[in-house]
Amino acid sequence: MNLTVLGCYGPYTPAGGACSGYLLEQEGKYILLDCGNGVLSKLQYHINIDRLEAVFISHLHSDHISDLFIMRYALQVDMELGKRNKPLKLYAPDEPASEFERLPYKDVYAVELLHEGKVVDMASLSFSFMKTVHPIDCYAIKVELGAGKTFLFSGDTAYFSELIPFAWNTSLFLCEANYLQEDLVKGAPPNHLSAYQAGEIALQAGVQRLLLTHLPPNRESSMYLAEARMKFPEATLAEEGKVYTI
Ligand SMILES: [Zn+2]
Repeated sequence: MNLTVLGCYGPYTPAGGACSGYLLEQEGKYILLDCGNGVLSKLQYHINIDRLEAVFISHLHSDHISDLFIMRYALQVDMELGKRNKPLKLYAPDEPASEFERLPYKDVYAVELLHEGKVVDMASLSFSFMKTVHPIDCYAIKVELGAGKTFLFSGDTAYFSELIPFAWNTSLFLCEANYLQEDLVKGAPPNHLSAYQAGEIALQAGVQRLLLTHLPPNRESSMYLAEARMKFPEATLAEEGKVYTI
C-alpha cells in the first residue's frame, strides 16, 4: 500500500500547505483519510477526483473536513459528465450533529456512520477504529494490509494508554504531534499529543516507523522531531507530497 501525505498541518496551514489529508493506494484503488483545507488541491497533483473510492473522516473539526464542502461541487460535475456513476462513500462520526447534517449534498456522498467496532473491508484492506480522547467524537483509523502489516492514523487525541495496544507492532504509525511538552506543562488543554508523547506511544507499542503530523505552522517542525526522537530515534516528520510504501 502507498500512503501519500497531502496535508500535514493543523489546525491551520502555512502558505501553500494543507491540513489533514492522506491518500492511500492499494491495487489501483484510492482512499482518502480526512479532507482538511487545501487537501482537494493537493490531491489533484496525484489523481483525478473521480478515482476516489471512499473517504474516511477521523472527526468533524474543520481542519479535517473543510474541503468536503468544496469537493462536493467537483463530485457533482463529475456525475453530470458521467465520470462518476455512484456517490462517493463517506465514513464519518455523527457528532456534532450540526456538522454531520451538513455532509449530505445532492446525493454526491453516500454517508455512513463511523464508530468503534465497525469494520470496513475495501481494496483488500480492512479498516477498524478506536475512539480517541478529543473534545468531539474522534477515531484512530487502523488499516490491516494482510501478512501482518498495518498502518495506523492516530486522528486527533490527548494521551491515553489504550492507544498503545491498538498501535501494537504497527508497520507505519502516522501520529499527531500538535504540542511540545512545554505546552502541556503550561496547561494546554488535554486534546492533543505532544511530540514526546507520540514518541513514547511508538516506543511502548513497538511500532516500526513513526511519522509525525498535525504540525502547527507557526513553529519550527524540527523542534517536534527532536522531541519525538528523545523516545523514538527513528521518528520522521510527515512531508506533503511524499509517498510512503508499507
Ligand atoms: Zn485537528
